[in-house]
Amino acid sequence: MSAKYTAPRGTKDILPSEMPFWHYVETTSRAIFDRYNYQEIRTPVFEHTELFERGIGDTTDIVEKEMYTFHDKGDRRLTLRPEGTAPIARAYVQHNLHGKQPISKLYYCGPMFRYERPQAGRYRQFHQIGIESLGSPLPICDAEVISLGVHLFDELGLSGLSVNINSVGCPVCRPVIEERLKQFIGMNLEHLCGDCNRRFDSRPLRILDCKNTTCKAYLTGLPDIRDSLCHECNDHFNYVVTYLDNLGIPFKINPQLVRGLDYYTRTTFEIVSDQLGAQNALCGGGRYDGLVTQLGGPATPSVGFAFGVERAVMILQELSDYHQSRLPLVYLAPIGFDQQSRCFRLADQLRRAGFRCELDPNKSELKGHLKFADRLDAEWVLIYGETEALAKSVVVKNMKNRTQETVKLDRVQGYLENDNISRPSHR
Ligand code: AMP
Repeated sequence: MSAKYTAPRGTKDILPSEMPFWHYVETTSRAIFDRYNYQEIRTPVFEHTELFERGIGDTTDIVEKEMYTFHDKGDRRLTLRPEGTAPIARAYVQHNLHGKQPISKLYYCGPMFRYERPQAGRYRQFHQIGIESLGSPLPICDAEVISLGVHLFDELGLSGLSVNINSVGCPVCRPVIEERLKQFIGMNLEHLCGDCNRRFDSRPLRILDCKNTTCKAYLTGLPDIRDSLCHECNDHFNYVVTYLDNLGIPFKINPQLVRGLDYYTRTTFEIVSDQLGAQNALCGGGRYDGLVTQLGGPATPSVGFAFGVERAVMILQELSDYHQSRLPLVYLAPIGFDQQSRCFRLADQLRRAGFRCELDPNKSELKGHLKFADRLDAEWVLIYGETEALAKSVVVKNMKNRTQETVKLDRVQGYLENDNISRPSHR
């Protein structure tokens, strides 16, 4: 039967079978962020549209084409957040976080929204986990952010990843870079797409980020934009790559990596996977020294990254050795509806004691219970019928070694705890 209502195009339901992967990614991320002394921040899912127009840049694909913008009933122009950095910079200024400590190390996770053409690994609602280190211009911070990403993906067990890195300069050398790019591409302008033509004068670097294959082809032979970096940016970049070398992190310099947001200065980087197909970017980030000032805050050089949870989960699902671990399940089997209430109380007691319990109220016969318990991969079945009720006991059936024992009701919890501990390694 085909469903009458389906999730909107570009969105997806994350079903329980996929959830362990999500929990694993989230829990591991939090644990690693904690080791680097990052703290979580949560910002609203929607913001004033202007924040993104100013922060991300009004000639970017995100702002020009991809934002979910609407007017609320108070006629405010609002946008579902397409990314996390601008909202965090906004919160940083709004709450004076700069006055509290010299460097603010923040992380976030949550849904983002972009009206993009959906395909494998690309959604209109997707989830990002990201970090922002606000307050230092030093290249060691860039290297620490990149190394944190590499560490996290190692810890998750994601293989086949590579780091691409570049520098897009600062307000001093950016005009020089842009001029050289314009000289190179100018003679072929008529062959480039409408977007590139429009952006040629105001934001020529965006042309490097164009997804159109024809435009990409005209960039072949482009001189390395790093040749036009100012002395300070060049030094900064050299320090970043030296720190990465020191940590033994392999990387590739990709002179065309500018990323799709205007706020980046100096370092830009991407971590790509050979297991993701066309949408191969798992993680993207870089330095944004001007964003906080642009939003009305004090000079706050910053650096961060975000990765797509859907894409991390896609890679994990391909790995056969990923194993989900859950608590062993206790299945309660009341025989006859009269016994349900007592079992219900026992389940409550066991759950409060930390056990994972299931009680199916639709079943009252042993055969049905056992079949279902098997399907759920239960560790124990507690059988409670009339005889057991009279004797104030329960039959504890161990589903793994197929043994069973009658245990007094008031001793069941202790019995299960012992059985659980005495098992050398359950699962
Ligand atoms: P960005 O904010 O564009 O730098 O993207 C950072 C990361 O978020 C990417 O490397 C992807 O893993 C993920 N991502 C970005 N856009 C999407 C999307 N439309 N669907 C799924 N994941 C996305």
